[in-house]
Amino acid sequence: MSQPIRRPQRVYSVVMWILSFVFAACLIGLGSLVIRDLPRVETHRSLDSFADHAALEQARGEADELRLEISDLRRLQEDERTDLRAAQNDYEVALENHSVWLANRVVTEADEQNPEIIARTEMLEARRDAVRAAQAELDAVGLSITQIERAQSDVSAELSELRAAARPEYEAYRQGVQMRVFLLRLAVTLPLLIISGVLLARFRQSNYWPLCRGFVIASAFAFFVELVPYLPSYGGYVRYGVGIVLILIAGHFIIRAMMRYLERQKVAEARSEIERRKSIENDVALKKLEAGTCPGCDRPVVTKDGVQTDFCAHCGMKLNEDCAGCGTHKIAFHNFCLACGHDCRDQADPASNGAPDDHGLPVPV
Ligand SMILES: [Zn+2]
Ligand SMILES: [Zn+2]
Repeated sequence: MSQPIRRPQRVYSVVMWILSFVFAACLIGLGSLVIRDLPRVETHRSLDSFADHAALEQARGEADELRLEISDLRRLQEDERTDLRAAQNDYEVALENHSVWLANRVVTEADEQNPEIIARTEMLEARRDAVRAAQAELDAVGLSITQIERAQSDVSAELSELRAAARPEYEAYRQGVQMRVFLLRLAVTLPLLIISGVLLARFRQSNYWPLCRGFVIASAFAFFVELVPYLPSYGGYVRYGVGIVLILIAGHFIIRAMMRYLERQKVAEARSEIERRKSIENDVALKKLEAGTCPGCDRPVVTKDGVQTDFCAHCGMKLNEDCAGCGTHKIAFHNFCLACGHDCRDQADPASNGAPDDHGLPVPV
């Protein structure tokens, strides 16, 4: 049985995890500054820069002219509407006055007023003509506006055609830019990934592993956040392809890890209980027991009336025993008896293996 971890070691472990994350955060910050500046090496070109420049400029000039013309015409239309309303009001007032005058004339029957009738009628007709003229001018302006609107839609159709003709070249340019940005990011990220792989493979047991771990976290972040989203899509082929490759690689390593674990367990379980017990870390064993798992074979510990049995039913690992000093029933992985302080580290001798009490029977709980 190995010695349990001391409290400063636990604190050290927590502090080093914090240090790993802070180190990773600093590396990520530095890396993102570098990567943020990468797309700037590309000058951004718009769709219009790929279109027929002269034709585009001409169409744009025409569109601007038409826009100015139509805005002048709309202002004129407003003025004409105001004039028409004024002429209509004049005519209505004159008509009303005329009706009143005619009514008075019927009452007085004044024949000498005939010349005045003619004059008044002429005045009314002049007003009506003014209304007609105002309406005609308004209609003319409306017609001009309609014609310019048609011309505008022709020009915008021409612009759309010019842009549509430029689109294939523009898309090719954009894909090229995406690919170059991705390759630049890959050039920065790939060395980090390779270094991380080396660190993972060689420095897991090193005292400086917490710092290496910070580097590994930072490069994993760089890969998944700074590189993967910039994978050129090509209609999704590349992204799904990379996803499939990553899953195959991850699956391969997980399967291999599981096979190695099962192989290790098989070899371990073939050894004697004493040897296995010595190879298990005390802290790990106590944690596993707390979770109801056998520290020897990682299978669930069998319970009898809600109490864990003294031996694992699957691999025979001794889980509980009597203290050799005072006889108190205790967890076998406690180095010293909780009741009398007896050193129980040597208790797991071959004589007690598999036959823990004097009668050769497992100790009842
Ligand atoms: Zn077991
Ligand atoms: Zn004791």
